[in-house]
Amino acid sequence: MKTSWPMLTEEVFACQKCRLCQTRTHVVLGAGDLHAPLMFVGEGPGQQEDLSGQPFVGAAGQLLDKMLGAIGLKREQVYICNIVKCRPPHNRVPEADEREACMDYLRQQVALVKPKVIVCLGSTPTRALLGDDMRITRDRGVWHLKKGVWFMPTYHPAALLRDESKKRPSWEDFKAIRDKLVELGAYNIE
Ligand code: URA
Ligand code: SF4
Repeated sequence: MKTSWPMLTEEVFACQKCRLCQTRTHVVLGAGDLHAPLMFVGEGPGQQEDLSGQPFVGAAGQLLDKMLGAIGLKREQVYICNIVKCRPPHNRVPEADEREACMDYLRQQVALVKPKVIVCLGSTPTRALLGDDMRITRDRGVWHLKKGVWFMPTYHPAALLRDESKKRPSWEDFKAIRDKLVELGAYNIE
């Protein structure tokens, strides 16, 4: 199906395909460069995101900004979004039917942005995009090439805030992401 940003935006902002529409303040579609070579996919909006309509603006988002900065990128240069576009109550993990209801929007975002690299932040996007048998602690840091796009599962920044010991492996993943972008000739980073 052919889509466009205005069509997608209009549809998602009015969406009532799952129960999360009942408790949301704002739909959080995504933000950043609409043609970014690098896309991040998180789980779903938290409280700050629900209130502002912007992805990754709370504590986890600030850490993501810092990690991006450490590989020479600003958030404006990447595209950031989530598996579900409406906040699950009390930040619970989105249910299977909610993820499925929302998935077509992510497919459209990927088709429009055409990223070279997609980073899955944590278990929810890793399983949704790379398969239900994925385990983030076991499987992070490994590249998967799917339909010409490189996928990398890594820890969610919120997990790093809870557990300091995840910071070093996460930094290794970000260095691998930087190396892949250099190899693919995306961005002028070195
Ligand atoms: N956590 C997420 O997974 N997504 C956000 O947008 C914010 C926090
Ligand atoms: Fe629609 Fe996705 Fe929001 Fe559910 S989470 S109401 S499918 S936009």
